[in-house]
Amino acid sequence: MESVNYPELISRVENSILDGGEILRSEAEALAETPDEHLMRLAAAADRVRIKFKGDSFDSCSLINARSGRCGEDCAFCAQSGHYPGGSPVYGLVSVDEILSAARSAREAGASRFCTVTSGGALSPTEFDRLLDALSRVSREVDISLDASVGFLDRERAQALRAAGVTRYNHNLETSADYYTRICTTHRFEQRVQTVRTVMEAGLSACCGGIIGMGETPFQRLDLAFTLKQLGVDCVPINILNPRPGTPLENAVPLQPLRIVKTIALFRLILPQATIKIAGGREVNLGDYQGLALRAGANGMIVGGYLTTGGRPVDQDVRMVEQAGFRMEMPCREQSRRKGN
Ligand code: SF4
Repeated sequence: MESVNYPELISRVENSILDGGEILRSEAEALAETPDEHLMRLAAAADRVRIKFKGDSFDSCSLINARSGRCGEDCAFCAQSGHYPGGSPVYGLVSVDEILSAARSAREAGASRFCTVTSGGALSPTEFDRLLDALSRVSREVDISLDASVGFLDRERAQALRAAGVTRYNHNLETSADYYTRICTTHRFEQRVQTVRTVMEAGLSACCGGIIGMGETPFQRLDLAFTLKQLGVDCVPINILNPRPGTPLENAVPLQPLRIVKTIALFRLILPQATIKIAGGREVNLGDYQGLALRAGANGMIVGGYLTTGGRPVDQDVRMVEQAGFRMEMPCREQSRRKGN
C-alpha cells in the first residue's frame, strides 16, 4: 500500500480550504488514519481554518432539561429512554418561572445562548403553549440568544418558536445513516433529517450534530460530518458518549482523547464555516485534553451541566475558554445594541 505523506497532505488540504476549496472525501478518509505523531499538525491546521472562518469568537450554550425521562424512543445511549431501567429523573414540563430563572442564571454566568430541551415525543398543545410563553418571556427579559430542542417538529411549531424569539433549533442526527439502526429502532434517521430541513425552512438556524464513541467506525463519523455539510447546518455539537448505566451502551469502550481531538479536527476541515461545539461527555472523556480539543478546530461548547449528567460550573468553563485564547460570543441582542440597530 502506498504510504501517505501526512505533513504534505495536511498542508495541501489546509491550503485548499483556506483558499475557499473543500476537502475531498478521499482526503478525509486518509486523514482519519493520521498517526498520533502527526496529530498536532492536523489539529493546528484545523485551528487555523477555524481562525480564518470563525475568528476568536466562542459560542457557549447552557441547557435546561425542561422535561425529563420516560421517553418512548429507544436511543441506545440515552438515560431518558423509558425502554431502559434506572435512568434519569422523571418530571413533566417545568414552569415558566423555572425556565426564566435558569436563563437568567446562564446569562449571569457568562453563557451566550440558552437552550430549552425536552425529552420524549412532541409536547402536548398545552405544554407547547407554556413553552412559548416561557420562551417569549426569556426573549423579552433576558439578554441571551435563545435555542430550543423539543423533538420532532412540524412547520407550524417551528414558525411559532421563531416568533417567540428562538433563533436556533437543535436536533441531532446522532450518527451516520447506516449506523443509525444500531442506535435506535423506534424512528428512522430520515425523520431526523426531515426535522432539520423543516427548521431551516422556517428560518431557524439548525444546530445538528451527534455522539461519537458509540461503536461507530471513523469512516461513519466522516459520513455524519459529510451529511451535515450537505444539509448546510450552522452549528454542530459533538457529544462524546458518557455511558449511562442501564442503557445498551453502558459498557461501551471509551474513545481515547486523541481520537476525539482527531474527530474534532476533521469535522472542522469538512465544515469550515460551521460552529463546532464540544458538547456532552467532554470532561469525562477528554480530561486534561480539553484545552487541546479547543485548539483543534472547535469554537463552541455546552457549558455547565448536560441533560442527564452534571458538568462544571459555567464560570469555570468560561475561564477555561478565555485561557485558550477565545472571546466569549455576545448574545444576539447585545450585538445589535453595540451595532446601534
Ligand atoms: S435521545 Fe431524545 S428521543 Fe432518544 S430516547 Fe433520549 S430523549 Fe428520547
